[in-house]
Amino acid sequence: MEYISTRGNYQKVNSAEVIRLGMVPAGGLFVPEDVPSLSQEVIYQMKDKSYQEIAKEVLSVFLTDYTNKELENAIKEAYNMNNFAAKEVTPIHKLNDRTYILELWHGPTAAFKDLALQILPYLLVQAINKVEVDEDILILVATSGDTGKAALEGFKDVDGIEIIVFYPQDGVSKAQEHQMITTTGDNTEVIAVKGNFDDCQSSVKEIFGDEEFNEIIAKEGYQFSSANSINWGRLVPQIIYYFKAYANFLNQEDIKPGDKINFTVPTGNFGNILAGYYAYQMGLPVNKFICASNDNKVLTDFFNTGIYNKNREFKETISPSMDILISSNLERFLFEMTGHDSNKINEWYQQLNEEGKFEIDNKTKEKIDQLFVGKFATEAETKEIIKDIYQEYDYVIDPHTAVGIKAYKEYFNSSEDKTKTVIDATANPYKFSSTVLEAIDESLLSSKIDEFKILEKLEEKTGVDIHPGLQGLAELQIKHNLNCQVDEIRAIIKKLL
Ligand SMILES: *Cc1c(COP(=O)(O)O)cnc(C)c1O
Repeated sequence: MEYISTRGNYQKVNSAEVIRLGMVPAGGLFVPEDVPSLSQEVIYQMKDKSYQEIAKEVLSVFLTDYTNKELENAIKEAYNMNNFAAKEVTPIHKLNDRTYILELWHGPTAAFKDLALQILPYLLVQAINKVEVDEDILILVATSGDTGKAALEGFKDVDGIEIIVFYPQDGVSKAQEHQMITTTGDNTEVIAVKGNFDDCQSSVKEIFGDEEFNEIIAKEGYQFSSANSINWGRLVPQIIYYFKAYANFLNQEDIKPGDKINFTVPTGNFGNILAGYYAYQMGLPVNKFICASNDNKVLTDFFNTGIYNKNREFKETISPSMDILISSNLERFLFEMTGHDSNKINEWYQQLNEEGKFEIDNKTKEKIDQLFVGKFATEAETKEIIKDIYQEYDYVIDPHTAVGIKAYKEYFNSSEDKTKTVIDATANPYKFSSTVLEAIDESLLSSKIDEFKILEKLEEKTGVDIHPGLQGLAELQIKHNLNCQVDEIRAIIKKLL
């Protein structure tokens, strides 16, 4: 299988090269030239298969230049059950006959990002060996909170790799920040940026594409790669759990083979939902994808109007991992939806760059409408849902998952589509304890209590165990305390080399 650039500005390359490069050097993102399909037979047979077995089937059709042995080894190490605090990698919790929660947060850092970032280091190290790179790899990460820790855990102490994480200083939860700045490992750096996530992501993407800067780091013996979802190696492992969810439904006889289901995905950079779309292209029976946003509802507006417009106020919300106005992976999605028309992509992304907005053509819009809808939740609605779900089902959810449930409710009310619907639960509630506790029982939250005490209070109140990745966080030693302005990011990278 070969990969091409969404902007038509790079030669065809294999998957190892794609994973090593992270993004197209001249701008643009790598996508498979043709999306492979799995027969319905193969999909139905997944019903009795393990996560690891399904992983093998999905990865091997995309990463065709990796050997069986390499993939098996990576899968075995990454999806080892010692890494997941549950009986299954991605269990499903049934709320009612229509609504199912896909718990994607049982990995070591309590966010769905682990499902890709546990395996990416193996794939990257194998890629470096295949491509015979002499330089060490320098991974730059921009994070809205969860990618940072998941990437740090995945890459710490991996030979030949250095990782620097940039996060918005006031744009992540206390638990998220503490998880990152207490990371050990000789090859890790964590830097708080005085700006928002879009500032971090734009700077990092610009640096990847900056020839002069690439030469500077090459002199120091490095080349760049990415652990953000702009790297195909982040996206492809996320396809696995869409198939696994469908397999679970078949296994439980909640659906018959061929029945369609819906997926609702709390969305920021459009990576997770795009992985679902690739699963659909491969043959997974999906009726609708419901793209859920918070108050930064640039995507909801896009799905409603066909206009992507980032010229608006950036809002800090209680679902900070979705506080994003430039959803990078939408570019891949539009490339697919236009039938691989890189002229259109170039035109639209130049407009986005120059004017902060673009409008897609009617034909593409109609095609999107058949499969996608966008809905959003306000801050008050998000809290309300956390409380309602706790009271009605005795089930505790995090604010991102709450945005998903609210979006699904909106969709159901407007469509009366009774298709069984999976809501991706993207983070464990203890990552956002103060918001969750406040939503469930405001009286327990006083302004004086220490952030870490809140986790214990939430545990006392709900009886749900604190995720192992968040236990004892308060006692960990702080290892990283650097910060910088947005325009100092380049300088700080040079200094760290
Ligand atoms: C990263 C993240 C999201 C957004 O996922 P994308 O793939 O960027 O759309 C949603 N919820 C949580 C908790 C996250 O960490």
